Amino acid sequence: MVSSLIDPDTKWWKTEVLQSTFLPFEVETILKIPLSHNLPEDKLIWIGNKKAEFSVKSAYHIAHSMIDSTELGESSSGDPYRYLWRNLWQLNLPAKIKIFAWRACINGLPTFENISKRGINCYNACPICGQKPEDIMHALLHCVAASLAWSYWSDHPRPPQSHNWSFPDMALHLIQSNVTQVEALAMEKGILLTLELQLSQVILESDAIVVIQALNDNSTGSELCHILQGIQLARESFELCIFKCLNRVLNVVAHELAQLARRNESSCVWNGVTPPAVSMLVQNDLLYLA
Ligand SMILES: [Zn+2]
Repeated sequence: MVSSLIDPDTKWWKTEVLQSTFLPFEVETILKIPLSHNLPEDKLIWIGNKKAEFSVKSAYHIAHSMIDSTELGESSSGDPYRYLWRNLWQLNLPAKIKIFAWRACINGLPTFENISKRGINCYNACPICGQKPEDIMHALLHCVAASLAWSYWSDHPRPPQSHNWSFPDMALHLIQSNVTQVEALAMEKGILLTLELQLSQVILESDAIVVIQALNDNSTGSELCHILQGIQLARESFELCIFKCLNRVLNVVAHELAQLARRNESSCVWNGVTPPAVSMLVQNDLLYLA
């Protein structure tokens, strides 16, 4: 039973039981499955489409992709990055960007490290910081200049700290990460906090349109259904509870707080005071309201 793997008090997976029952890679996969605070009953869902409702069309697409992968000679023992390649080429981006990303993943970019490995006599240090050899990981992820570029994408998925991942591992993680899931979990945390603060009338805003729509349509069929159900259940405790979608540009305070949370890596609650880091942004919002 799955429930025997979940601690009802902490409402999280029993890590030690998982470790003694499954292989390490299975444990890692299970620990990535988020749980809802209200631990709903198990339910079978259809993951063939976004609505999580069975349709012949979605079943046809799944069958077709299975035939395609057999014809291409792909199998579970084949290329571990096949999911990455398939999704990379399907991205709605200019071809030159996709080719650049693919070349980065196969270590095919002319970094100084790669050039010197090919026998060309050159200094392989990074020309920007001069601190490390310029390989793919340094040039695109770790160099100060690269870090600065990544910082503009405030909520990009990050790999676990303990992993020493390769560039294609990172790209796979990025493409697989479910931002909607994170937004749904943030909404759940938000509504639980407002319950704790004993507020009776609340408006919860998010720029995740899929989450807001699902909550307003009372939809409980998707992969996020257990989290959405938990939010709906909490909603019943309020006199008034509205879920509103707002444009990302109107949500700068939340994004700045998310950045702050990433730097602190601990949970913080400011009750009745404005966090100094966003006081200017809050003032701007108040001016906009006035
Ligand atoms: Zn550098």
